[in-house]
Amino acid sequence: MTENITEVVVIGGGYAGVMAANRLTQRDDVRVTLINPRPNFVERIRLHQLVAGTHEALADYGKVLSERVLLVVDTVTRIDSDGRSAKLAGGGAVSYDYLIYAVGSGSVDPRVPGATEFAYPIATIEDAQRLRPVLGATPDTAAVTVVGAGPTGIEIAAELAEQGRHVTLVCGGVLGPYLHPRGRRVVAERLAKLGVIVLEGGEAKVTAVTRDTVELSGGHTLRSAVTIWTAGFGVPDLAARSGLSTDAAGRLLTDETLTSVDDERVVAAGDSAAPSGLPFRMGCQSAVQLGPQAAETVLSRIAGKQPATIDVGFAGQCISLGRSAGIFQVSDKHDTANKHYLGGWPGAKLKELICWSTVWQLGYEARKPGKRTWWTKDDKRQQLLQAKGQEASTAADRAA
Ligand SMILES: Cc1cc2nc3c(=O)[nH]c(=O)nc-3n(C[C@H](O)[C@H](O)[C@H](O)COP(=O)(O)OP(=O)(O)OC[C@H]3O[C@@H](n4cnc5c(N)ncnc54)[C@H](O)[C@@H]3O)c2cc1C
Repeated sequence: MTENITEVVVIGGGYAGVMAANRLTQRDDVRVTLINPRPNFVERIRLHQLVAGTHEALADYGKVLSERVLLVVDTVTRIDSDGRSAKLAGGGAVSYDYLIYAVGSGSVDPRVPGATEFAYPIATIEDAQRLRPVLGATPDTAAVTVVGAGPTGIEIAAELAEQGRHVTLVCGGVLGPYLHPRGRRVVAERLAKLGVIVLEGGEAKVTAVTRDTVELSGGHTLRSAVTIWTAGFGVPDLAARSGLSTDAAGRLLTDETLTSVDDERVVAAGDSAAPSGLPFRMGCQSAVQLGPQAAETVLSRIAGKQPATIDVGFAGQCISLGRSAGIFQVSDKHDTANKHYLGGWPGAKLKELICWSTVWQLGYEARKPGKRTWWTKDDKRQQLLQAKGQEASTAADRAA
């Protein structure tokens, strides 16, 4: 601390990091620095639209970030938690009293021969910007294969098929694993209407990708002029590289206050956080809730109070199915899909409203930090934590 100012550094200017940085500005004696590799905010939830050319995916930080937050455009290469500083790729380091780790997620190593060389991920803006001209240079009649049938795969398949492209969606398992069977039927019907060929089941796992083919476990080979890889997100390895404890996927391991299990001064939020080793589903839905709660943990510590434990509630999953249809799959608060959904054109309108309002709420937090809280008690998480604790003590008893 210098001159009674507490320095808080936030790494990552995505949904979680921006929410956290904005919320921290509640205190005048806190100086907030946000480090992000780009000078603009990326609306990752619109990256499939960026690829298809139906929407841009960049927003001005001036619209979403408080004027009180100092934005440093750089990449953190290492966190020195003993020395309390974050080393920058551009040279030098930024010191902190508290650090919020919100580096998000990106594409994951596909571990399928040829996929890294020949398939295009769309998990980051750089991925999407690389794919867009490739599609632009590919005739509309050429075969496009989308691998992975989670929300990202469904969204890009529908977006491109609506533009008249010949799309095959290779599920590797079931279409939309999160969806309730009723919601899944709606998605399947819409994809069929758009002409998307959906390959489901054990025979539809990709075993190899070449420049112009996709090989499947069932022995089939698909011709594919462009292959888009959407099967899962991975997280940056910054925490692991910095000697901080992570879960198996590389997310920073924290307690239920989002505090690193190694260091009280390091707090995590968003896709790159693994509270109690029980991470939430990756998504901006959880990121915009975890960001402010990470900030509250830091603010509590500064005030000499015990931080509250996290509370994250879910409403469902909203998937666009092209520009004129969508589905809002309703879930319980603890993130299990139920039989309710809103489909068709109203689903598309709701999806657009969600995309718009997500950016709006970042700006609202910038203007009125701490005014809005919306998280609700999720009783199931307590049960999960108890079950995990019991499992660990049984394993310890067995080992003794
Ligand atoms: C096409 C697509 C559609 C999606 N649709 C939805 C949806 O409808 N609903 C939903 O809930 N989720 C959706 N998601 C997922 C959602 O976008 C992410 O889960 C969300 O962005 C996570 O937020 P975050 O703040 O944790 O991380 P991010 O938004 O990934 O932000 C992390 C930031 O940290 C930066 N960073 C990384 N490493 C460093 C470093 N070393 N130094 C400095 N900065 C660093 C990154 O560059 C990035 O700017 C979608 C994703 C994609 C790709």
